[in-house]
Amino acid sequence: MESCLVIGAGISGLLAGLKLHENAVNVTVIEKSRGLGGRMATRRQDGAIFDHGAQFMTTRNRQFREMVERWLGQEVVKPWYIGPQGNMRYVGAQGMTTVPKFLAKKLTVHNRQTATALAFEHNRWKVTCQKGEGGTVTHEADFLILTCPVPQSLKLLLDSEIELDYDDEVELKRIQYRRCISVLAQLNGPAGLPAPGAMDLNHPLLRWIGDNSVKGISDKPGTVTIHSSPQYAMQHWDSTDEDRIPPLLEAAKPFLKSAVEGASAHRWRYSEPTYLFKEKQPFRKPYYINDELSLGLCGDGFGGPRIEAAALSGLALGEDLMRPL
Ligand SMILES: Cc1cc2nc3c(=O)[nH]c(=O)nc-3n(C[C@H](O)[C@H](O)[C@H](O)COP(=O)(O)OP(=O)(O)OC[C@H]3O[C@@H](n4cnc5c(N)ncnc54)[C@H](O)[C@@H]3O)c2cc1C
Repeated sequence: MESCLVIGAGISGLLAGLKLHENAVNVTVIEKSRGLGGRMATRRQDGAIFDHGAQFMTTRNRQFREMVERWLGQEVVKPWYIGPQGNMRYVGAQGMTTVPKFLAKKLTVHNRQTATALAFEHNRWKVTCQKGEGGTVTHEADFLILTCPVPQSLKLLLDSEIELDYDDEVELKRIQYRRCISVLAQLNGPAGLPAPGAMDLNHPLLRWIGDNSVKGISDKPGTVTIHSSPQYAMQHWDSTDEDRIPPLLEAAKPFLKSAVEGASAHRWRYSEPTYLFKEKQPFRKPYYINDELSLGLCGDGFGGPRIEAAALSGLALGEDLMRPL
């Protein structure tokens, strides 16, 4: 393989891309949004910093833990607290996007380009992208890696009339995701959440409340991220912010020691997979490869609903592709 296009600059795409780049493959990453990291997302708002997607990284797996410990030495991450399974939970040094920004340094990444059509002709991929500023651009490569949430990758493949093996297509279609609504709330004082400054909740409306200032990424006190329960997100997906934010703030009120000054919301249609690729099959791999099509898919839909699992999925795909025949 001489060249590879990676669709998506989330953790799985960046790590798969880096593995190929280290092996002298010419890698181009295409990312539809302005930023990097996908669901590892950090937003700056009125002098405050919010992680509004993933909140921390688990380090249960040794390979991933060693990688995160290297990032620790490079001041890319910092430890937050020890999780229930006894492993340290890490956060990006200036928010979760610090990690993807660091990983992307060695790669060619085109932001604000959305892959809209794929063609595989004469053993070469042509990917047409809609540019954020208008117009289209086409990229070409020998191999294609799709890292979008699986329903989006599948739609792209099927709309482009790329034929997959029937059983693989059935399995890929089974991968579904929970939704989540994030509310970014600025309080008029400290949130007063118990150590470590966050609560994992089993509440009908709420899943998580975390204070980004206690976590150490925002200088402004009382910079709070609230994640809705999947049920609430389903019920209020099409509501306006005026309708969907107040019930979440009301539900969070008993946990907060200061009043809310302002709040905005972000919707995550694909927050975490509820079923993984070939989940029921023994010896399954945490990625998908179609050799005939020179196509690979990776991400949390293949590894599991965590940054760690998405990262390992991307790494494993990259390692498999670079294995000598
Ligand atoms: C609200 C929320 C809270 C979470 N909390 C945690 C947590 O605390 N800890 C944890 O470990 N995990 C958490 N997760 C899950 C974790 O964020 C994901 O499992 C992981 O980041 C997935 O990485 P990925 O590379 O598979 O996908 P993504 O991060 O989704 O990356 C895919 C990328 O593809 C891009 N893309 C999609 N379509 C196209 C296209 N057509 N063209 C170009 N680019 C495209 C997207 O913009 C995105 O950047 C959370 C997720 C959410 C949403």
